[in-house]
Amino acid sequence: MKQKRFILQENELPTQWYNIQADMPNKPLPPIHPATREPLGWEDLAHIFPTECCKQELDTEHAWIDIPEEVQEKYKYYRSTPLVRAYALEEALGTPAHIYFKNESVNPLGSHKINSALPQCYYAKQEGTTNVTTETGAGQWGAALSYAAKVYGLECAVYQVKISMQQKPYRSSIMRTFGATVEGSPSMSTRAGKDIISRDPHHMGSLGTAISEAVELATTTPNCKYTLGSVLNHVALHQSIIGLEAEKQMEMAGEYPDTVIACFGGGSNFGGIAFPFMRHNLSGERHTEFIAAEPESCPKLTRGRFEYDFGDEAGYTPLLPMYTLGHNFRPANIHAGGLRYHGAGMIVSQLIKDGLMHGVDIPQLETFEAGMLFARTEGIIPAPESSHAIAATIREAKKCKETGEEKVILFNLSGHGLIDMTAYEQYLNGDLLNYKISDEEIENNLKKG
Ligand SMILES: *Cc1c(COP(=O)(O)O)cnc(C)c1O
Repeated sequence: MKQKRFILQENELPTQWYNIQADMPNKPLPPIHPATREPLGWEDLAHIFPTECCKQELDTEHAWIDIPEEVQEKYKYYRSTPLVRAYALEEALGTPAHIYFKNESVNPLGSHKINSALPQCYYAKQEGTTNVTTETGAGQWGAALSYAAKVYGLECAVYQVKISMQQKPYRSSIMRTFGATVEGSPSMSTRAGKDIISRDPHHMGSLGTAISEAVELATTTPNCKYTLGSVLNHVALHQSIIGLEAEKQMEMAGEYPDTVIACFGGGSNFGGIAFPFMRHNLSGERHTEFIAAEPESCPKLTRGRFEYDFGDEAGYTPLLPMYTLGHNFRPANIHAGGLRYHGAGMIVSQLIKDGLMHGVDIPQLETFEAGMLFARTEGIIPAPESSHAIAATIREAKKCKETGEEKVILFNLSGHGLIDMTAYEQYLNGDLLNYKISDEEIENNLKKG
């Protein structure tokens, strides 16, 4: 298996994150209050999130933000992550394209989520918080937060969607191993949970129920803050460590990407790898193409509508300007659990409107075919989420085969799939399906909003 890996020395690691908001030609529209429709300032968010995260969220001025030294120290435990030239995949595809991937699966938790969990817990600790809480669906974010909370000596309570907890038992074991308390949502431990259960005793939970419970816990418990693993601007900021490293590593390889690709749930790993490269498009020096790969069953980037919508199903959050399928959207139960979110986040939505990037949607079976080929050529079993990026990469590499173009393609491998083997098992047994949704379904759901 021919591979070439590029690793940075400790003294070459980035010491600042990149905030693309400062360089955007049109800034993202502000989040607004659902009742007054007034734009929100960071003070309006600070009873929920750590203060520093609220400031970063709405910072459209500073392009570079220092990574606290304590966070840099923790990043050093697993960074830099390797940039890899995927020769074996190229050969299997017979493509003249040069394919590189940034491997974010090599850390204690197996996905990129840890890059933001660490700073969020650090800032919470700094301001005297003792407890953090969150919701999790498939469990990657909950697992990363549980670990980061342990690192900074915080107590962590996670509300996991009840049905996911039953379907993916290992992720809750991981969270509990790192010392977190995990409750299936809806639970009897909050007002919101009790209300839901009294209305429907057999409710199996949703991200909406879990967000409501976590936010309630944070706002009613002294010294407790809520954290979120995607969608928000400060999360993409923390993830920019991925692209900043990749930029230096591509330089070591003597190349620069013509195309950058990542899978897309709420946009954190996409923003992480893409925004540092996009800054050279914004300054006019480069003309890289940026592609976000979403599932065909949850196509907010390619078929959603740009409007103000809630970030959660229950409608507890501020209204956010974004491409959305409607906050009540219930995507099919595909295996890429991390990509089943209804909205695109504020920065990416503005970038799409301005034609600076675009989305593609990929059917479930094509993602698994791509994941299998990647496993068999590069020796890594990818997360079903990441396989969307691989599938989009393969599409581009095949185009190069037809045209003979030697494009340089870089994609982000957001995580490994070793805790998702049930999904691979079902694929191998021929039990997986595609879920395409109709225009009527999307229209009807948006009307409900
Ligand atoms: C959560 C997750 C995603 C999707 O989230 P983004 O914020 O869009 O990156 C993708 N891949 C993996 C492995 C994840 O855990």
